[in-house]
Amino acid sequence: MDSTSPATTLTQPATGASPQDPLISAPTAVNGHAPATPSTIAATPSTTPVRGRAVIELTEKPSIDGVAARLLTPEQASRLKAVPYAFDGRRVLVVMADPADTAAADELSVLAGRPIRRARLPEDQFEELLRSAYGATATQMAQRLGGAEEEDELLANLTAVDAQDVHRMAEEPSVVNLVNLIILEAVKSRTSDVHIEPFDRSLVVKYRIDGDLKPQTSPPKALQAAITSRIKIMAGMDIAERYVPQDGHITLRFENRKVDIRVSTVPTIYGESVVMRILDKQSVQLDLQALGMSDADRAEMDRLLAMPHGMVLVTGPTGSGKTTTLYAALTKLYDPTLKIITVEDPVEYELGGINQIPVNPDRGLEFATGLRSILRQDPDVIMVGEIRDGETAEIAVRAALTGHLVLSTLHTNDAASAIGRLLDMSVEPFLLASVVEGVLAQRLGRRICQSCVQPMEIPEALRHRILATEAPLFPGGRAFKGAGCDKCDGSGYRGRIGYYEMLTVTPAMRQLIAGGKSTSADLLAHAAPTHISMRRDGLLKASKGLTTVEEVLRATQDSEVMMSPGNKSGVAGVKPA
Ligand SMILES: [Zn+2]
Repeated sequence: MDSTSPATTLTQPATGASPQDPLISAPTAVNGHAPATPSTIAATPSTTPVRGRAVIELTEKPSIDGVAARLLTPEQASRLKAVPYAFDGRRVLVVMADPADTAAADELSVLAGRPIRRARLPEDQFEELLRSAYGATATQMAQRLGGAEEEDELLANLTAVDAQDVHRMAEEPSVVNLVNLIILEAVKSRTSDVHIEPFDRSLVVKYRIDGDLKPQTSPPKALQAAITSRIKIMAGMDIAERYVPQDGHITLRFENRKVDIRVSTVPTIYGESVVMRILDKQSVQLDLQALGMSDADRAEMDRLLAMPHGMVLVTGPTGSGKTTTLYAALTKLYDPTLKIITVEDPVEYELGGINQIPVNPDRGLEFATGLRSILRQDPDVIMVGEIRDGETAEIAVRAALTGHLVLSTLHTNDAASAIGRLLDMSVEPFLLASVVEGVLAQRLGRRICQSCVQPMEIPEALRHRILATEAPLFPGGRAFKGAGCDKCDGSGYRGRIGYYEMLTVTPAMRQLIAGGKSTSADLLAHAAPTHISMRRDGLLKASKGLTTVEEVLRATQDSEVMMSPGNKSGVAGVKPA
């Protein structure tokens, strides 16, 4: 993410900004405070032009209008080093320690909800003004923060957060605390994404927990601009730019663990919609057993990962947990004697001892270019976040041919389709046939809360979707569900579980692939006898009370099978058109 941006976007129209103005071209750190160059401080007249607007040069402390001062909280005032002290028509006059700090000025006008006019006070008097406006606390806070970077401040603020601090924050209403609370509550409740959605008359906050969106208490609509700005500042985004989508990143510490948050903003007709994806390494199960993979599938995965070269693919739609599976595989593979390099979009979790490269299309670093460079880094194992195009596919296949173990993902509904997809990308059939070793397809479903699991009769609506070959898994038409308890907030579900299809490439399949005409049905006809579909894997888990039949059918419906008579495993793998 780009942490700097030119200070050219304004919240107010820049009337008469002259190109000669030295401040216009001064780069402004989005999350820091741009140092004023000496030439801009040497202001002898009573006003100095900043962006065509005069900065009021005060020689002594102004008297403070309490209404103006209360436009900012003490934290905001000390962080932005600014004190609003009077009104001038619609504008509010603000003494700033550094009037050239465009980012601070932009934020001030957002927080104050009106245009600002900047004023400067001799440096030695600013601290005193801050103290008289907000009391000693703010001054102390300002001194403590000193020249600290914004990120350090956040890290420090959130380093030792415990339940008491959360309560204290709740008692001190400020936008900063509100945003902190929204994030901390999310981390505590195993939320994967926080959605902040602006509507005509409301601002809606939702948490995605175990795959489902749950509405939260919504903050007042009036705070929308301040909340969005605060998040954008934390994420190192340009707060003045509100009309184009932006991406950013927040790192914070919570109960001594590091939590990465990927932030995305998109302009909607009612303002910016914000989504924060929480990448909490500790809450992710980087263990294939914990992910619910069966012993047989794990044994096969271990065998594939132990190969010195070749290609192993994981397929599924977005949100099916492919990346988590690959991370689990890499964690398992990690060995200081191996060089492991990844190229990812984006890097979701930092893995110790593994070289992770984020793709950066703006700078010309795509999967294909990244992969090509990786090959010159003498790797043993390569992970490519996703194969999306023929060029990446071709380099990946070549890497697998030349003595590397290559792991990657593809967007296909089932395992066998991955082969067809790669052939469609113009990969040479005989090359693909010689490198591809196995394909894992997967979906995620909700896991039944093990504190309140109980048997139940499968409802009629679901029962008729269970095939004759599957019915024996549920004697008496009975399966399981969660009754709902404290541990699962009454939902009956807690956590998620994977449904897997492990397709090992057999010699017969290699011949088919080399022939270049390999439909999924052909390939599956030559699969190992132990092969089972994702749906069947899920139903086996449902029969053991780990998940519900409903979840399995929901999660695997896009890979729904066409039953062919005599197919003992209940798999044909062809999606109905
Ligand atoms: Zn429960």
